[in-house]
Amino acid sequence: MTTAAIITAAGRGLRAGGDIAKQWQPLAGQLVVAHTLAAFEGMVRVLTVHPDDRPRAEALGLDVLIVDGGATRAASVKNAIEALAGRGITKVLIHDGARPLVSQTVIARVINALDDAAGAAPALAVTDALWTGANGMVSGTRDRAGLYRAQTPQGFHFDAILAAHRAHPGDAADDVEVARAAGLDVAFVEGDEENIKLTFPGDFARAEAILKGRRMDLRVGNGFDVHAFCEGDHVWLCGVKVPHGKALLGHSDADVGMHALTDAIYGALAMGDIGQHFPPSDPQWKGAASHIFLRHAIDLARSRGFALANCDVTLICERPKVGPHADAMRAALADIMAVEVDRVSVKATTSERLGFTGREEGIAAMATAALVRA
Ligand code: MG
Repeated sequence: MTTAAIITAAGRGLRAGGDIAKQWQPLAGQLVVAHTLAAFEGMVRVLTVHPDDRPRAEALGLDVLIVDGGATRAASVKNAIEALAGRGITKVLIHDGARPLVSQTVIARVINALDDAAGAAPALAVTDALWTGANGMVSGTRDRAGLYRAQTPQGFHFDAILAAHRAHPGDAADDVEVARAAGLDVAFVEGDEENIKLTFPGDFARAEAILKGRRMDLRVGNGFDVHAFCEGDHVWLCGVKVPHGKALLGHSDADVGMHALTDAIYGALAMGDIGQHFPPSDPQWKGAASHIFLRHAIDLARSRGFALANCDVTLICERPKVGPHADAMRAALADIMAVEVDRVSVKATTSERLGFTGREEGIAAMATAALVRA
């Protein structure tokens, strides 16, 4: 069973403004039609174009069959369907090139509905009151009961819609009209308010806002570290030198809190841990200041397009008391990572004198970091 998608982009509608048809205008970093084609990736894809736009279509460099459109929308779709004939296609989805925000959910609903009907399309019930009018004056009202706004993709059994288009004279508003004229049953499934057809200049701003919301890409990582106490008179915790009757033993400066935070960032990136990037076996990191590690992790995140949304470090020890130093620690970490201090939390707890931290044999730290695609 092979499903194909026909994307109609042969129109030259210029209502959206500019000298280029709306489907060939940029939207959030790529052409409208490129967004639309991406929604049907994995299917056999056909793009109908105005002959003048063929170079634009070829420049997309996508695995897409490009077909010249005809004089009408129906003629363009018919050309595309004919181009698919004999290729073993069983279902075909026909979709407006200017609807780049179609969701996978809507596409799946249409495909699933084709199990029970020769045709299926998304629709939304009309909820606004309907008027007739002329010259800026309301001339009457209409009952909205039973009225729907049609969307695409409109899906069909391939052989049925091929026959319907071959038999259809002239143009049609959409392929459901062509199918129904041929006597095919067309079911409707729930559409999506975000599946807008870019028509007016303001639609582009709305589409960009929707895409931005969808692109929210949040990554969360955790880190945990332990260092044992040894002889000494201070410890480094979250970048702050804290006087104490002992020191922390470690290959570097043993800043247990900063190590946990560094690991949390690597974890959010799914890029290993501190020992992998700075092997303890490598003498060049002996006694190293831990801000080198944290700086490396945050730089790696930025190079991958992520910004730190927030982080939270918990130090687990009976002593030294962390509270008096917590704000200095937050400021130090924020400074190293070059982020606002209100994105950085440092807090502490004891383990109620239980376990190795309770016996004051060492300090444990845990951290969470959230990265968001910038
Ligand atoms: Mg460590």
